[in-house]
Amino acid sequence: MPEGSSGTAVTVRWVNCYDKRSRVLAVPIQECGEPLVDLRGYPLLATTDHPKAQSQTKTRLHCREGVAQRLLLADARLPEGLRLLILECHRPLELQDVYWETQLKTLQERHPDWSEDKLSTENAKFVAPPEIVPPHSTGGAADLVLVDADGKELDMGSSLNEKGHLMRTDARGLPEEAKRNRSVLLEVMESAGFVNYGHEWWHFSYGDRYWAYTKGEPAAIYGAASWDLVTGA
Ligand SMILES: [Zn+2]
Repeated sequence: MPEGSSGTAVTVRWVNCYDKRSRVLAVPIQECGEPLVDLRGYPLLATTDHPKAQSQTKTRLHCREGVAQRLLLADARLPEGLRLLILECHRPLELQDVYWETQLKTLQERHPDWSEDKLSTENAKFVAPPEIVPPHSTGGAADLVLVDADGKELDMGSSLNEKGHLMRTDARGLPEEAKRNRSVLLEVMESAGFVNYGHEWWHFSYGDRYWAYTKGEPAAIYGAASWDLVTGA
């Protein structure tokens, strides 16, 4: 672990830099204990075989039961011929650590002149610091795309996990078709109770701190979920 990137120091810097994020972090968690379920047991499209998906963990297509139910709702509300394709849900906390460090190293190499504060601030735009109980660690978040009846991905203006300004949900300069497709996705997901993370058009969550903050809920209902919450584990 590089010097200065250990838990507490990073958290403090991160909180100072992002007022909104500090408010998200202040949201209490009242864990409801809902199990993690395998989405492959549901009538949904989900795959572990996508070139842009990052996670290799065995629970990557697991999510909380309430999230699976809401994904079903959203999928059913799509215009005819369109489906959700779910690519990544649960990510254990340990893996989030690895992502944080890997991304930090990349930034350090690209910007050797940046201070540690600047590096942490910029890094937090791409990866949630492990200390904050990141959305994917709760089993409340899902990364997904839209596909047509042939399973072909719709044009969303950028691909899953593609860095750059087009990853923002409301990015400027998107082709009309991509804008329309993003609206369709946003509408069905929000109607099913999810919130979108505005920095990533493909990321939605329910029940985590970000959801609670965005919806004005008094508490998040999902904290970090470990293997013991998996049904049948
Ligand atoms: Zn995500």
